[in-house]
Amino acid sequence: MREYKSTRAEYRQSIEDALFDYFTGDSAVTSYRSAMQRAMSDAFLSAYEVAYTDGGAELPLDEDALEWLAARQDAELSHIKELFATLKDMRAQYRAKEITTADVKAEIERRRDGYSATLDSVYVTGKMFAQANKMVTWQYGETEHCDTCASLNGKRHRAKWFISRDYIPRKPGAAMDCGGYRCQCSLLDDKGKEITL
Ligand SMILES: [Zn+2]
Repeated sequence: MREYKSTRAEYRQSIEDALFDYFTGDSAVTSYRSAMQRAMSDAFLSAYEVAYTDGGAELPLDEDALEWLAARQDAELSHIKELFATLKDMRAQYRAKEITTADVKAEIERRRDGYSATLDSVYVTGKMFAQANKMVTWQYGETEHCDTCASLNGKRHRAKWFISRDYIPRKPGAAMDCGGYRCQCSLLDDKGKEITL
């Protein structure tokens, strides 16, 4: 079984490649978009399965876990589609030499970081599913705090309680008021061991 780190590094590279090729290449947008979508589907599955075993469960993934992953992959396919639509103007500007390669690279890096944060949350959720019935406690992170994270601090429930409410630490777009974007919160088991990232 591969380590999560290598899946993550490979995914980041695939995103950079797909986006850079999009800005510089001559093929139809669909080819770059499909490349990134394929990389996403593979990376999500790989990260999730590694997380599941890192969390102490045995493959294959159970039904609830699989269902969550399929929904997450679907949502991300749409995000990627929107991303290429959003970048269209920038690509035109780049081709007209109104912006520089450095501008394009900065944008690509920003996108790459966003998408790999989502991959982190897929990994985190896979670990939570592996320990779905374990009692875990929400621990407040060292960031500006939102009301949801503040009210969750110290709360102890089964991991699946948090999953079903989409209270997933650091998950971009999660149900906490902070949306998880700057969240540094984590979940600890009763021995004080972090079960998330
Ligand atoms: Zn938080």
